[in-house]
Amino acid sequence: MKLRDHHSIEASASPDDHIHGRGLRMTGQRRAVYDALMGKRDHPTAVEVFMRVKGKVPSISLATVYNCLETLTDCGLVKTVNHDRESARYCPNLAEHAHFFCESCGGVTDIPLRAKRRAHDIWELPENVAISHHEISFRGLCPKCAKAAARKTTKSK
Ligand SMILES: [Zn+2]
Ligand SMILES: [Zn+2]
Repeated sequence: MKLRDHHSIEASASPDDHIHGRGLRMTGQRRAVYDALMGKRDHPTAVEVFMRVKGKVPSISLATVYNCLETLTDCGLVKTVNHDRESARYCPNLAEHAHFFCESCGGVTDIPLRAKRRAHDIWELPENVAISHHEISFRGLCPKCAKAAARKTTKSK
């Protein structure tokens, strides 16, 4: 059984190795986009990435940011995270993880697997399935919003 998708490359490889493996170069723009994702791991949308990169590379366009994100995704450096009908968000965390979506503030956080566990230790997967991709998500209230909600209910009593 294979749980990693075929685009995944060993975590030890550098971002440049990933790009070179696909016969591409880590251009300044691609690096700026990648650095923006690595700098703040809050799963931004393409538009949010664009706003961040624009501060450093004022000449960059939204279309270029989309292209860079597509290249980085194709290289397996970045994953897209989809939730309902919202715009895709981007995640540079290549370790196996699930996502938590806060229904109140819209925040998206990484939920890592417990130490030494793998997804197929947890899920009862049928024999001989070939998994190419899996996306596990949790939704609810993040600690901050849960606290705020609890405060509201005690007040209204
Ligand atoms: Zn993530
Ligand atoms: Zn929240």
